[in-house]
Amino acid sequence: MYTLVYSINNEPNPETIYINLTNACTNSCVFCLREQKDDVCGAEMWHDDNYTLEDVIEQFKSYKPTPKNVVFCGYGEPFLKKDMMKKFAQYLKENNPEIKIRVNTNGHANAIYKTNVAEEFKGLLDEASVSLNSDNSEQYDEICQPKIENAYEAVKDFLKCCHEAGIKTYASIVTGFDEREINVENCKKIAKELGAEFRNREFITNGY
Ligand code: SF4
Repeated sequence: MYTLVYSINNEPNPETIYINLTNACTNSCVFCLREQKDDVCGAEMWHDDNYTLEDVIEQFKSYKPTPKNVVFCGYGEPFLKKDMMKKFAQYLKENNPEIKIRVNTNGHANAIYKTNVAEEFKGLLDEASVSLNSDNSEQYDEICQPKIENAYEAVKDFLKCCHEAGIKTYASIVTGFDEREINVENCKKIAKELGAEFRNREFITNGY
């Protein structure tokens, strides 16, 4: 069976587990780990989305004791499997309400579905980490190579909507990848204006 649930560094009792719902993405970021390797700590990450909610639950249940954090992340954009994501988050809220649920997302969801997806996940997601990646759309396009129109504006809108939905929201950037200069202070300001906390993640070659 595919890797739908994984942990980092193959810890025996991880506090945090990650959910790999899809390999599809509406970005093609220059620093994406998928371009460098096929696995995370030996777990093969590629799959064709041919699985069920029960498969995700079964893999989740194999982690004991129950982890404290669940993160929708993986080798793709989790919101592209929005219905599956919602069903699994609902399952967790009903069965393990103590678990903190986060999504790491490219922030395109509202633009893709043309509706307020953040609002749909109100009460289901505790945190959203949204990739802002730059303080301007030209550089964003160069770094993320988005497949949707006006992606940078879409990301900023999504950040605001997550905050307004009561989800603890982080705007993230990646620094330290090649020679590119990111205006960190401007990104911080933008995050604040949108109601988000700010996270600067140093690029790590292996990804973790
Ligand atoms: S948004 Fe994430 S999964 Fe998609 S290309 Fe960028 S780094 Fe990779």
